[in-house]
Amino acid sequence: MRTLAILGSTGSIGKQTLEVVEEHPDLFEVYAITANRSADLLIEQARKFRPEVVVIADETCYPKVKEALADLPIKVWTGADSLCQVVQAEPIDMVVTAMVGFAGLRPTVAAIKAHKVLALANKETLVVAGKLIMDLCKEYQVPILPVDSEHSAIFQCLQGEGEPEKLIITASGGPFRTFTMAQMHDVTAAQALKHPNWDMGAKITIDSASMMNKGFEVIEARWLFNMTVDRIEVSVHPQSIVHSMVQFPDGAIKAQLGVPDMKVPIAYALSYPNRMPSHINGKLRMSDYANLTFEAPDLQRFPNLQLAFDALAEGGDRTCVLNAANEVTNEAFRRGQCKFLQMAEVNAQTMQAMPFVSNPSLEDYFAIDAAARVKAREILGLS
Ligand code: NDP
Repeated sequence: MRTLAILGSTGSIGKQTLEVVEEHPDLFEVYAITANRSADLLIEQARKFRPEVVVIADETCYPKVKEALADLPIKVWTGADSLCQVVQAEPIDMVVTAMVGFAGLRPTVAAIKAHKVLALANKETLVVAGKLIMDLCKEYQVPILPVDSEHSAIFQCLQGEGEPEKLIITASGGPFRTFTMAQMHDVTAAQALKHPNWDMGAKITIDSASMMNKGFEVIEARWLFNMTVDRIEVSVHPQSIVHSMVQFPDGAIKAQLGVPDMKVPIAYALSYPNRMPSHINGKLRMSDYANLTFEAPDLQRFPNLQLAFDALAEGGDRTCVLNAANEVTNEAFRRGQCKFLQMAEVNAQTMQAMPFVSNPSLEDYFAIDAAARVKAREILGLS
């Protein structure tokens, strides 16, 4: 029996994690679930899964959740600090970090310091502070099990293997894979939110359309698998069946395949080193896919991907600055305050404008994130 805390249980990954848990009540119990503002769904989840604690981060939503759960012996906490507090509870074995964005950083650090195994979906944590997080995991001897499908694929390919030569991260290419720059000029958030293969939260869906998500996955892979940036490659694979690959020194490539269903990598992270039988996870039939294609990404049309490689190569605080700028531009695009191609332009301008910090501490990252957000908003004319 594994006892879980699910940070961000009301999001796309959080809900699918609960579906996996529901299929295996003999293997998992839920100690804590958390949300930002989705009070109704959090209440519904709490009544169904009966955790010890629920956290509603936004304090204005607290009275509603508290009152709705008053008849049950469930503790209701609120505020960002409660997220850090709840992950430390003694019974918890594993923390699933399914929150979106920079907000996941502090609770992830708290979970590591409390010696909890991490099932990591919140890639922004590794984008912002990859070295710091990996160093902490080493110090506290905490394993990180990747939830992201690409990293789960690489992790699975590496089982039983020695040092890989190259990681090949596949990318669907998103809804605008074949669009010209002129066509991308006027695309709307509604168009960008229609991902061809994956059903995900809004922020990551926009990041997928701009290929910022793939850039973040390169950064995530650099830290998770201790690979230098020159040994990480991106391959556009529109069918999203090969979830990623690893090449070994003898030239052999191992790949992990499956239908695009996040419940598969979630279940693997939750049950590692075992595999659980599943009826809810889709099963791949190779005969359904006559053609699996691969092509090089176009860094001209998708400059966010190049920005991620550059930020990683420069090191220091650059990936934190890129993440902060992107959180601002991504949200601005969703609100109609920024054009699609402008997102990458403002991300680049923010990186140019921000001073370089070579070896940031955890507290430095908070200051850098805040300052980069101000700068990005200023460049966008939103401040
Ligand atoms: P969603 O937007 O669907 O869900 C985000 C969750 O985080 C919600 O529960 C939300 O609460 C909560 N949350 C958001 N902001 C805060 C905050 N400031 N404080 C506390 N809680 C907060 O995101 P996804 O599930 O799509 O993604 C989650 C993470 O997983 C991201 O880092 C993403 O990159 C990664 N990921 C997602 C994949 C997917 O298929 N969706 C695939 C691979 C990785 P509320 O509902 O109240 O807003």
